[in-house]
Amino acid sequence: MKSFTFPRLAAQALAAALLLPLAGFAQQARPLPDFVPVLPAIKAKALDIPAKGYLVKQVKQDVYVVTDGAYQSVFVTTGKGVVLFDAPPTFADKLPEAVAEVTREPIVELVYSHTHLDHISGAQSLNKKIKGLRILAEEGAASLLREKRDPRRPVPTQTFRDHYQLNLGTLHAELKRSDWHSPHGDLFIYLPQRKFLMAVDTVVAGHVPFLDFDLTTNMHSYLKVFDEVLAYDFDVLVAGHLTYLAGRADVEDTKEYAYDVYHTIKRIHDGSDQMAIATHAAEKYTWDNKFALYRTVLDGMIDSCTTEVRGRWINRLAAVDVFGESHCRAALIYARWDD
Ligand SMILES: [Zn+2]
Repeated sequence: MKSFTFPRLAAQALAAALLLPLAGFAQQARPLPDFVPVLPAIKAKALDIPAKGYLVKQVKQDVYVVTDGAYQSVFVTTGKGVVLFDAPPTFADKLPEAVAEVTREPIVELVYSHTHLDHISGAQSLNKKIKGLRILAEEGAASLLREKRDPRRPVPTQTFRDHYQLNLGTLHAELKRSDWHSPHGDLFIYLPQRKFLMAVDTVVAGHVPFLDFDLTTNMHSYLKVFDEVLAYDFDVLVAGHLTYLAGRADVEDTKEYAYDVYHTIKRIHDGSDQMAIATHAAEKYTWDNKFALYRTVLDGMIDSCTTEVRGRWINRLAAVDVFGESHCRAALIYARWDD
């Protein structure tokens, strides 16, 4: 497979999406830590993104993934118009061109997987370009968007509660709400006839999850999402991010990783002599500064967890050294306060 160079367009878009304060970069620069390179086997699987900045890849009959190497969205031809699933701002303005590469059917509907800006805030440009675009979302997501009045994320024209059968022409999609990630709900988007599943921000193929277990606001539900995903009969999973498409093995790997982090931090937490650590720290901070003592206790657990997990996973998944510490912290918050 050809080597992958991150396209300039996508790199810039990713930087913008991550809200890097490029203008103030000079004064905010701090030494760059060392991270191991992405594992060669993972890098080799990356899809080649053409110079135009996005790739249209057919993954099933009538089902296409659009990706810029950082984000993924989906469109489906139905014989009665194209249905889009998500509109990442990094390439949403190119989606009409992307669709036109494979069909003359007009785009008629957009489905929001969840409310996060990085997956749907390109809806504004689509809504301007496409007359009468229908926008569908689950009620939890819709109620946040009604409250936000954010022009980048137009309010859905149609909503449903919990689950919905989206039937249009040849498309039969089962939409079901869950809550592994966003506080306003996430969607399983399943096309049973195609064995195709979209579940955004669950796993990242070849990589550990993003910061804090993919920014989940519900660690309890996040730990259950892998079995929920695997309960579907699918062989292609679109999870929304990075360089290639996930399969069942990627879900199994991420499940094993997430549970390893969780069990590791729980063992460390339950086995540590917190009073001894606090007493030692109080010699420096005094017992008045209780937050300093808590922080010393918690940081020690996170450090031990991070070291252990890194040792077991650094040669299996990319970016363990980048986000492993945040995973240990997220799992500690759950294990200590909610488990
Ligand atoms: Zn998200």
